[in-house]
Amino acid sequence: MQRHTAQSADAERTSETTTSEPSSTLEDALLQLERAAELVDVDPNVIERLRHPTRVVQVSVPLRRDSGEVEVLSGYRAQHDDVRGPYKGGLRYHPAVTAEECTGLAMWMTWKCAVMDLPFGGAKGGIAVDPKALSAAETERLTRRFAEEIRDVIGPTRDVPAPDMGTDAQTMAWFMDAYSMQEGETIPGVVTGKPPVIGGSEGREEAPGRSVAIVAREAARYYGKSIDGLTVAVQGFGSVGANAARLLDEWGAAVVAVSDVGGAVYDPTGLELSAIPDHETQPEAVTTFEDAPEQRSNAELLELDVDILIPAAIGGVITEANADVIAADIIVEGANGPTTFDADTVLEDRGVPVIPDILANAGGVTVSYFEWLQDINRQSWTEAEIEAKLTTKMQSAWEDVEAVYDPAMMTWRDAAYAVALSRIARAKGARGLWP
Ligand code: NAD
Repeated sequence: MQRHTAQSADAERTSETTTSEPSSTLEDALLQLERAAELVDVDPNVIERLRHPTRVVQVSVPLRRDSGEVEVLSGYRAQHDDVRGPYKGGLRYHPAVTAEECTGLAMWMTWKCAVMDLPFGGAKGGIAVDPKALSAAETERLTRRFAEEIRDVIGPTRDVPAPDMGTDAQTMAWFMDAYSMQEGETIPGVVTGKPPVIGGSEGREEAPGRSVAIVAREAARYYGKSIDGLTVAVQGFGSVGANAARLLDEWGAAVVAVSDVGGAVYDPTGLELSAIPDHETQPEAVTTFEDAPEQRSNAELLELDVDILIPAAIGGVITEANADVIAADIIVEGANGPTTFDADTVLEDRGVPVIPDILANAGGVTVSYFEWLQDINRQSWTEAEIEAKLTTKMQSAWEDVEAVYDPAMMTWRDAAYAVALSRIARAKGARGLWP
């Protein structure tokens, strides 16, 4: 295996596009692919194919506003690769959704499903709209019409959407209903992340945070740290961050800082997490609840001297500008893409291990896979079954990555990409590229 640096990657691929992620997702996804390609013995033709999505569908979605006026919005579905199974990935409603961003996020989904050894490929989509500016009735009309516009390219054996930024279980319920109505039968397996009453899975909401906690525990073990008293700082006390923080706390770690968009709270002896409202219960209340402890800024949270730092809010928060001052021993990525490609290089030079998002937060897509299995088999598993299966799947993915990881040659991200790329390349080899 060869060592490869960020500087040698294609520097021309820049983007001025404002996206719903702070750094250019597609640019970083392509740079990461170039780097991983040098670590594995893969046919260059397969890599060339993986630089491009299978298709990116753009649709116009007319929306009748409650005022009666009709607005036409742009919707997208990027399908990156499906060699290992149906495309899988979220739908986001955000003003800055673009085809380019969806393509980069779809690539990450391809690697995430492959590193978890799920029989899915990668996709991502959404609508360029501010969901906060829509009434519930408008969101329902928009979702139903979007489902109709992309109906030809989705389906339980083709492409299975899920919630993402600005969408939730209710959005998936409307989407599934619109699709099912047009197909003339109830098809719960067309989306995941639905309410359990219509085929959603128990434990789906908690799953990404649970996987982050499991991976953080494995990383601590790898580096000879005990979970007891392990100091942890978590940026973003939302679905991913709060669930990860609570589990680590339950297992004996000391969560010393958590934050939301308004700032962070800090207690070096460990926070009383049950007192802190999460994003779901009371949005943006981490620093304003009664008896909130000492406050810090989000930037200061990232620089705390802790055993494990979990950025679990948004992408692009660890950059070339602050990678030098990160004092944590280990970073476990809870959000998608919190560390930019350039920051990765700085952290690698400084010897700070970064456990990548495609492994750490993959509990979400893993329980989505469990949901899809329950739907197509008309079964319903208990929360305890889901938890046990998720733990087994996460530990086995961790072991696969650990088996490849060689600290003298690569980062943890490289190792995860190597596992994913090898699986995809073997599947491409068996099926052929049909050029
Ligand atoms: P969420 O909306 O539940 O919570 C986000 C939290 O981050 C909130 O506390 C919010 O106040 C905080 N936040 C927002 N902007 C911030 C900023 N600029 N600085 C600091 N904090 C900020 O979101 P979530 O579902 O927990 O998702 C968080 C991240 O994890 C996203 O990158 C998402 O793509 C990723 N992710 C989510 C899932 C999932 O299924 N929920 C799965 C995998 C990855």
